[in-house]
Amino acid sequence: MGMVMVKCPETGRAIPTGMKTDRESFQRSTVFFGRTHCPICHTDHAWFAREAWVHEPGASAQRRSAGSI
Ligand SMILES: [Zn+2]
Repeated sequence: MGMVMVKCPETGRAIPTGMKTDRESFQRSTVFFGRTHCPICHTDHAWFAREAWVHEPGASAQRRSAGSI
């Protein structure tokens, strides 16, 4: 599992959305958008899934079978 990250349009820094998923199911998911409160700007940013990415610390260490749900 990893944290879905987006880039803050004001500062260009990565901010966590608070959503947790794994990279494979995130890529399979249909296009959606979200809204995240930015800890840097202290405002809400709207974002699209194609602008977001999943940050998985140590993702290469553990491999789980995909599509088990
Ligand atoms: Zn921001």
